[in-house]
Amino acid sequence: MPAKEILIWPDPRLLKVSEPVTKVDDGIRALVQDLKDTMLAVGDSAGLAAPQIGVLKRLFLVNIPPEHNDGNGTNGTEVFINPEFITKEGSFSWEEGCLSIPDLRGTVTRHMRVVMKYLDLEGNEREVEAFDYFAGCLQHENDHLNGKLWIDYQGPQRKDMVRKKMQKLTGKKWA
Ligand code: ZN
Repeated sequence: MPAKEILIWPDPRLLKVSEPVTKVDDGIRALVQDLKDTMLAVGDSAGLAAPQIGVLKRLFLVNIPPEHNDGNGTNGTEVFINPEFITKEGSFSWEEGCLSIPDLRGTVTRHMRVVMKYLDLEGNEREVEAFDYFAGCLQHENDHLNGKLWIDYQGPQRKDMVRKKMQKLTGKKWA
């Protein structure tokens, strides 16, 4: 399937709280395929959440090569459905980018270690433990499901500036 359009902040669909997936069925598997195709078309992205292609469902993809992160990462591109953090500890700050805010980055403080439960593509309950880079990516993607992006951790001035840049980039006003 062709890649989908990635929504640009502050498109109102990116600001909504997504709905839990009630059943992992063929519709969900088709959505995951759309996300994978879209992520592949972009090239170098560590993750993509369903609301970024305009589907307000609680699932996202993450692809963290373990060799870049002390063995702590995903097995290729993995899907996380109805994610929920059961442990969050420590903190670190880093620079984040997002496909929905092209070419810009912002500093965000994240938990250093998380344990997250979720459903896999077969609907099985699973748990993943993640540190630093991988943990930060899970938190970034999970934020998308709650209508939150890295820009929401910035001050009002930066937010205003980025809003203007995105309006210029897309020609949209999002009144
Ligand atoms: Zn993002």
